[in-house]
Amino acid sequence: MSKLSYHQILVGRFMSGMSGLDEMFGELYEAGCAPDEALGPELLARARKHNYIPAPAEADYAAALLREYRTYCEQRGRGCACQTDYGTWRGIPREQIPWFPTLYEDLCDDCGKCVDFCPEKVFAFREDNQDVYVASPLKCQVGCNQCARVCPQKAISFPPPTMLQTLLGG
Ligand code: SF4
Ligand code: SF4
Repeated sequence: MSKLSYHQILVGRFMSGMSGLDEMFGELYEAGCAPDEALGPELLARARKHNYIPAPAEADYAAALLREYRTYCEQRGRGCACQTDYGTWRGIPREQIPWFPTLYEDLCDDCGKCVDFCPEKVFAFREDNQDVYVASPLKCQVGCNQCARVCPQKAISFPPPTMLQTLLGG
């Protein structure tokens, strides 16, 4: 059996490692499935073949899978046949580094300052309700935490920089 792809994706407020997403998205794309809300149950059912998805977190997983599939469709639409390559940081695959902003929705007032500020387009407005969310966590530059400083509501947090030293074995 060939090895399945593996990716970390943001589910709710936490990163979750998931197997088989590239393969699943490729099949859906080839079948002409549009990345709209109705696809949520299908995404969950397919993802469960290779991943454990706890029932209480279904809604978060469905939203995360739909977001990732949208990104995948956009990339394929631009002619890229592969999932995003997030590269490495100091020799470590980016997807293995839990460095990205956590946005506290109860504090955030959706002012959009972080959306405008981040050059990597990590934040975005949700299409349905215009809430700000962390759309592309792994595009965040490892070690950067500048957006936390521009947020007037102090709604953005990062891991402590010492976490990176630990990761490097320091
Ligand atoms: S800058 Fe802060 S308050 Fe404004 S949208 Fe971003 S997280 Fe929310
Ligand atoms: S820390 Fe820097 S790269 Fe990461 S989301 Fe904030 S502004 Fe963007």
